[in-house]
Amino acid sequence: MSISNSILKILNMEDENVIFNENFIENRKINNKRVNIFKGYLKNDYEYCPMCGCINDTTIVKNGTKISLIKIPKVSEVASYLELKKQKYKCKMCNKRFTAKTNIVDYRCRISNNTKHSVINYVKDILSNTLIARHHNISNMTVQRIIDRIYDNKKLYKNYLPEAICIDEFTALKKTMAFNICDAKSGKTIDVVLDRTIDNLEKYFSYYLKETREKVKYVVMDMYKPYIGLIKNMFSNALIIIDMFHIVQLISRSLNKTRIKIMKKDKLNYRKYKRYFRLLFKPRLELDSSYWKKYICFKNLMTEVDIVNYLLEQSDELKATYNLYQSILYSLQRKDYKLFDKIIKQDYKNISEYMNTSLNTLREFSGHIKNTLEQPYSNGIMERNNNTCKLIKRIAYGYRNFNNFKAKILIITNIFRKPKKEAMKINSSLLNV
Ligand SMILES: [Zn+2]
Repeated sequence: MSISNSILKILNMEDENVIFNENFIENRKINNKRVNIFKGYLKNDYEYCPMCGCINDTTIVKNGTKISLIKIPKVSEVASYLELKKQKYKCKMCNKRFTAKTNIVDYRCRISNNTKHSVINYVKDILSNTLIARHHNISNMTVQRIIDRIYDNKKLYKNYLPEAICIDEFTALKKTMAFNICDAKSGKTIDVVLDRTIDNLEKYFSYYLKETREKVKYVVMDMYKPYIGLIKNMFSNALIIIDMFHIVQLISRSLNKTRIKIMKKDKLNYRKYKRYFRLLFKPRLELDSSYWKKYICFKNLMTEVDIVNYLLEQSDELKATYNLYQSILYSLQRKDYKLFDKIIKQDYKNISEYMNTSLNTLREFSGHIKNTLEQPYSNGIMERNNNTCKLIKRIAYGYRNFNNFKAKILIITNIFRKPKKEAMKINSSLLNV
């Protein structure tokens, strides 16, 4: 193998027209940093003139050279450049001049194509632009330009929406919430909208064709009332599914508030309520009743069931609230809508005002919760996307420009995301708070 071929292999470049001589490398200082300079010579063999098309029988002659310094990926962690001496030519027939061409670098560009490819590989991961820029010895702006180009090439279609979508929101810029839409099956983010007011969202969804919107069959969301109207208006054929996690969260929060209220009043059992509160949230059937053990706040040996019973005996309010919490949780776990409906339709004495409010909310959303228990979709995948968005934001120390943020989100969670099969299944662990 010739020197030229070996060097091209090391540099991960393919162009037979580039030739390296024996003294191909030189160490120089650029911006006070030691860098590698690879010196190459570029020539083309023209069979015909690229300008006038005349067959080349000595009509094309050499006409000087032009040197360009091209940034290439680091070699052994040392910033590297390719100093390419490009042969210039002149055609005797048409009198036009031109320079030898190569696929190593684009016309009039000073950054090699394999640097750009490497940047694309880095952009797929959650890394800050500054870090990517520093690693490739290029500017932040160049990284952003490459991101913009990936994003522009794969612009999302306004005439397509998947059969099932998830909607949710997260804090995007300082205190501004963004509305996030993703595919419930593949988990890919479909779009991120900055303003989540209903008016704006209605305007946004109107951009999609009516037939496209009518094809959406399921919309998964949390219990936020204004969205219900929006979805009914915009997606006339869609079933609204309330996310399971949010239902469980609603009732556990009200149970927890009740516990705290009682704990603050009951100075005698304060520590017990504080220390063993987790047991209250555990599904009753999963509590252990056979393993006796010493607990710090109790003198006698106890089981988990004993502790829960002790805590409940101290307060009728907590007991009633706890029982309701457990029966709702049980019906949800069993995916038994009839049972769920029966439970929430009854009247309860003694339950705390917090649980009463939650009960009213559940009654209000009951029809949609039916879909939760019967359909295989959840917002779990959306929570994962939202976490990714937050991570992207944190790593960049926040974004000032929403479009840059959005481009990055869509590149990571749509364009380069591999679909996950398990994402579709409801994660049963969601039910265990
Ligand atoms: Zn010519």
